[in-house]
Amino acid sequence: MAEEKNYDVIVLGGGPAGYVAAIKASQLGGKAALIEKSKVGGTCLNRGCIPTKTYIKNAETIEQMKKAKERGIIIKDPSFTLDMKKVIDYKNNVVKTLTNGVEGLLRSYGVEIYPGEGILLEGKKVQIDGSKMIQGNAIIYAGGSKVSKLPIEGINSSLILTSDEILDLEEIPKQFIIIGGGVVGVEMAEIFNVYGSQVTIIELCDCILPMMDKEISMGLTSKLKAKGISILTNTKLEKFEEDTDILRCYLSSGEVVACNKALLSIGRVSDLSGLGNVKLKMSSGKVKVDEYMRTSIEGIYAPGDINGKVMLAHAAFKMGETAAQNAMGSNVKADLRFVPSCVYTLPEIGSVGLTEEEAREEYDICIGKFNFAGNGRALASQEAEGFVKVIGDKKYGEILGVHILGSAATEMINEAAVLMASEITLEEAAEYIHGHPTYAEAFMEACADALGQCIHLPKKNSK
Ligand code: FAD
Repeated sequence: MAEEKNYDVIVLGGGPAGYVAAIKASQLGGKAALIEKSKVGGTCLNRGCIPTKTYIKNAETIEQMKKAKERGIIIKDPSFTLDMKKVIDYKNNVVKTLTNGVEGLLRSYGVEIYPGEGILLEGKKVQIDGSKMIQGNAIIYAGGSKVSKLPIEGINSSLILTSDEILDLEEIPKQFIIIGGGVVGVEMAEIFNVYGSQVTIIELCDCILPMMDKEISMGLTSKLKAKGISILTNTKLEKFEEDTDILRCYLSSGEVVACNKALLSIGRVSDLSGLGNVKLKMSSGKVKVDEYMRTSIEGIYAPGDINGKVMLAHAAFKMGETAAQNAMGSNVKADLRFVPSCVYTLPEIGSVGLTEEEAREEYDICIGKFNFAGNGRALASQEAEGFVKVIGDKKYGEILGVHILGSAATEMINEAAVLMASEITLEEAAEYIHGHPTYAEAFMEACADALGQCIHLPKKNSK
């Protein structure tokens, strides 16, 4: 075994939680090491956020081309084909640019990168690839997550893919079944539908995106159905059967649906492969942490997907930063109350805070709504689908939740999150001057509507 090297902070895992933690620890004057068994950037840059968004942009471009005629733009031959090799190359180039950028950042801060699998051992030691051993004053265990598999018959068929493989598929499946109508499932449904597949989503719950505000979920359901995507809710997948190039999916309804490829998108579980002989307290298979990202063992922190608190890249950034600050001697909490959720469908979804259903259980609420059909920028852009819904507390005017279905929803939701975190009331939010014409005006109008004061909505009949 090679000689031990000592660091202030050792980060295990180079995804959004890990690489941010390593940079932050360095910024705070720490000597930091980062161990990554696959590629720096983690799920987000290599297999998640960025590749999927590159693909959704292709889908959006195709939809825009199809809609151009309505605007008087005549494209001579409106048919299109996808050169999947080039589509994949383009996606890989975007990924490479970003992962190179992150590696460059880490180097610029003097973080020592160890490629290889790290195993966490007692005494804040980490063994790398069974040979090197390094030791830290603090450990940041940011191993992230991996796809979860269904323990059912036929699951090992090569026709069943996960999000790890689907974005390198060179042939678009004619019949494509998506198991799980969560965020990954609906984004893939949107992409593959536009790319030319006949898509069916199979969802166990009574609606797709079951954790979202019902009105948003129903709104997206009708948009997806209108595009020809089949959605089977309240449906359990019982088993798969492979028959040469065809996969049969046996459903709880008694129906059997066939496809050329299926995507398993039923969620993710913590990747605990790096946990050696260290006995960290767990909660439902995830590493248990407090708001400071502290685990049950002093000096070991676990930010990001591995703790399952909020499995999103931007939440992982914040948790990684917090872990590094605390590892370097601070005492700060990661405030995850106002983390926006973004779904990159066409139209998009942006959501923060309580759903209407959750808010009703706790508060006397008021609701404001503004449709993009009344927004100048949206109409001019041929993006007038959807709405902004604001949920407020009647008594104090607190903004409890904001849910947006619309073309710029994932950008707009950041304003709502910032205002909510700043404890800005509905009244104050409705007063801020917004640029015109912008999609964001619809948020201001929805806040005013919650107060019954929206200028650009007709007078409401008093009951
Ligand atoms: P990860 O990104 O999983 O990184 C963990 C890293 O640790 C990995 O690189 C892994 O190789 C490494 N590692 C694990 N164990 C070891 C070990 N023993 N030794 C060395 N290295 C190890 N989130 C969003 O916010 N927006 C999106 O649009 C979005 N889209 C997504 C799309 C898909 C298809 C998927 C799957 C996820 C998406 N996510 C999105 C979620 C997002 O990718 C994760 O929340 C985020 O990557 C979590 O960051 P992390 O650092 O905690 O973990």
